Amino acid sequence: MLYRFKCTFCGYQSKHLLGTPDMDQTLTDVNTEFAEYRLFVCKKESKLVHEDVLSSSFTGRCPSDGSKLVEIDGIPKVCPACNQPITVDIIKPLAADSTAE
Ligand SMILES: [Zn+2]
Ligand SMILES: [Zn+2]
Repeated sequence: MLYRFKCTFCGYQSKHLLGTPDMDQTLTDVNTEFAEYRLFVCKKESKLVHEDVLSSSFTGRCPSDGSKLVEIDGIPKVCPACNQPITVDIIKPLAADSTAE
């Protein structure tokens, strides 16, 4: 599920993948690719960062600046930049991919 966060106060906006992206796919041979995306705040950049917590490369640090990420429990309610309430839209995956694999 893709979430779009928008702050009407400072203009911050970003899109993040959350949860398990392969939910609707058949879980036969894809077990090794299982991923779980969670949201974190990078205090240094004052922005949201999503990370695959099941990935072996996940260290709990921001990939771009190496600062420690702060995990968000669930969906963020405030803007990481200005701490005002943030608007959340869920972007439902459209029935876009109808091609058989
Ligand atoms: Zn803001
Ligand atoms: Zn960062």
